[in-house]
Order: sequence, then structure tokens, then C-alpha cells
Amino acid sequence: MSNFQSYRRVVRIFLIVTAIVLPFIKINGNHLLIFDIYTFEFHIFGLVLQINQFLPLLALALFITFLFLYITVTFGRIWCGWLCPQSVSMEVTSFMDKFSKNAISIKVLKLILVYFISLLIAANILLYFIPYEIFFKSLTGEHFSRGIFISLMVLGTLLFLNFWLVRYRFCATVCPYSMLQSMLFDKHTLAVWMIPETRDECIKCMACVKVCSTGIDIRQGQNSACINCAKCIDACADVMAKKGKKSLFAYRFGENNIKNFTRFSSIVSMFLAIVSFVVFILVAFNTKNVQVEVIPYKKFLPRYVGDFAANGFILVVENSDNVNKKIKIELRDMTEYEITPDSMFEVGADSKKDFTFFIKIKKNIVEGKPILNLKMRILNITDNKEEIKDLSFRRPFDSKGKKQ
Ligand code: SF4
Ligand code: SF4
Repeated sequence: MSNFQSYRRVVRIFLIVTAIVLPFIKINGNHLLIFDIYTFEFHIFGLVLQINQFLPLLALALFITFLFLYITVTFGRIWCGWLCPQSVSMEVTSFMDKFSKNAISIKVLKLILVYFISLLIAANILLYFIPYEIFFKSLTGEHFSRGIFISLMVLGTLLFLNFWLVRYRFCATVCPYSMLQSMLFDKHTLAVWMIPETRDECIKCMACVKVCSTGIDIRQGQNSACINCAKCIDACADVMAKKGKKSLFAYRFGENNIKNFTRFSSIVSMFLAIVSFVVFILVAFNTKNVQVEVIPYKKFLPRYVGDFAANGFILVVENSDNVNKKIKIELRDMTEYEITPDSMFEVGADSKKDFTFFIKIKKNIVEGKPILNLKMRILNITDNKEEIKDLSFRRPFDSKGKKQ
């Protein structure tokens, strides 16, 4: 085997191991990378982003988009030939390539094997959406989930049909990324080309055509169906080696192999990818995993209690982290007040809780003011963070219904 296919095999093994291991890695109790469909939370780098946390998810989507644009403009379909899960799967199931020429018994064995591989890949894909703790329990014993089992079988069957009947035709025809690539391709984009100066050395052995993943003849010139897999480079290298020559094909930045990494489209897409990544990191690491809200407790009318005026409030705490949080509340810029029945609260992991509390302020402070604008300090003791909320404290009515 010639060089590029050996490198592709190493890359493939790395990608497969990474894809298998990733859903099982956790950081601080959160997954390294999954979208949990039960909680609608996106776990990335051990951070947990709620689906309604629009800004970090938008920045992440923009980063992925601009990165793909940059890679596509500069390196063409290198993603397709080297990294895309579809082409990696095609190589894993490459024993299906000569399927039609096999004896019936071999065909049956190959179909059983490819169906088994399809189910494993389907399970791996589902683990990016269903936490592994739930997934494995759901397929066995008393926790059996028919929904998860059906999802596995349906996805596995679709992959099986893809591996059996569609194969590289997907890359050459319906893949949306291939269409995008056709639009972004320019005269400096990396692609597999026949080296113009060596064109006359071709002995028309057709090895490059026979080995081509998508069944094209790249000698005729660039073709949008080419996925940059480099099989033709290696096949031709094997043929030409017998003549003491090199492959007539090569990866080239355009037919004339002129590198231009500073062209407008490359620079802009790279710049936007870097900016959106920085924004994502800044926003994601500053995203709160504890949301707090303070609202008036409407069932409790403001009233006097001894020397104090009292108002009721409800503290709503939503904790999307996987550890309990201790919350303390106090008033800022105010000394003569009380918070009852408690000013310390605890909220369990991944839960939302309401706490009713009452603020009592010395009568003489509220007199003459229909509304006191208060600043409430909400301390997240667990994470050592604080937040300030504005509260309106209403002066109570007296027994005759007049504000005192
Ligand atoms: S032309 Fe070469 S690089 Fe392109 S798909 Fe065919 S074998 Fe792969
Ligand atoms: S493998 Fe090389 S020598 Fe053979 S047909 Fe293709 S380009 Fe020509």
C-alpha cells in the first residue's frame, strides 16, 4: 500500500477511537461532548449549555460554519476524503465494494457483518444524544425503553442500507457539503490533480479509474465528485514505480499548484472562525448555570408587623449544574431590616425551586415613601458568585385602607 492510504488508515483509526470514547468522557460530572435530548442541554468541554442559551450556541454554530468555509475554500474536500464519518464508514465496510461479484453464501455473510457494524455505529451516534448511563440501562432488564430500542434499529437499518446500496454515490450526488464545495472552489483550492507536465507519460492502464471511490476519471480534469481520497495518487504511484517514476497525480493548490493562503476568501473565513470561537469561549465560560429571579408574593399584601413594614417575595432558583447550590440573600445599602423565615436556601442539582420569604423594614424608613427601591444581593455561595436584583418594596396600607 502506498503512502496516502497508510496515512488515511492511521487517521481513520484515530477518528474511530475518538468517536467511540468521546461520549464516555466527563469533566466535573458533565459530558465532554453530547446533546442530551432528555434535558435539551448541550455538553461541550464539560460546560452545560441550555437550549435557550442562545448566544453561546449561536457563536458555536458560527464558529463551525466559518471553520468549514475556511477548510473548504483552502483545502477543498479534504474533509470528505479524510475525516467525514460517511467516507470513514465506507472504508470500514470496504468489503462491500465487490459485493455483486460474490457467491450467495459470501453475500449473506457480508450482509450480516455490515448490519452488525451498522448497529454498532447507530449505537455510537445515539450516545451523542442519550447519556450512556441511560442508554445502556434502556436496552436491558427492567429499564427497557422501547423508544430507544426502535431508534437504534431504525437508525441501524438506514445505515445498513446506506453501506450496502448507496455508498460513495452519496458523496458524489446528494451530499450538501459537496454542492457547497463546488461553489467555493477556486483556482488555489487544494485538490487532486493530474500533474500537467507528466500527462504524456500516462500508459492508460486505468488503475486510477478502477480504484476511484466515486468512479470518476480524474485524468479528464477536476470533477466535483472527487472527494480527495488520494486512492488514484497511490494507484498510479504503484504503476509508475515499476518504471522508476512517481505518480502522475498529486495534491495541488490548483492545477498550477500556486499556494495563496492570503486570498480574500481564506482570510475572511479564517478571521470570522477565530472571532466566533473567541466569542464562544468568552460567552460559554461566563454563562450562568444558576438562574435566579425574585418576584412579588401577591398573596401576601404589604402590612405592618410591630415596628416593621413587611413585603412578601418569591425567590425562583433554577440550577442546571450537576451539584447542589447554596444561595444566600441580603439587602445591599440597608442595615435595619430582617429576612424571614430564612435567608439561606439550597437547591438540588438539575432542579428548579421556589422559596417564599418576607422582608421586614423599620417603619420609619418606609414612611413618606410609597415605594422603596431595594437592591438585593443574591450570593451563590457554592460557586462564589453574586448577582444584584432590583426589588420594589411597597409601603403598607393602614387599617382604614390609606397608605401611611
Ligand atoms: S479522483 Fe482520486 S482523489 Fe478523487 S475520488 Fe477518485 S480516487 Fe479519490
Ligand atoms: S494509473 Fe496513472 S498511468 Fe494508469 S491510467 Fe491512471 S494516470 Fe495513467
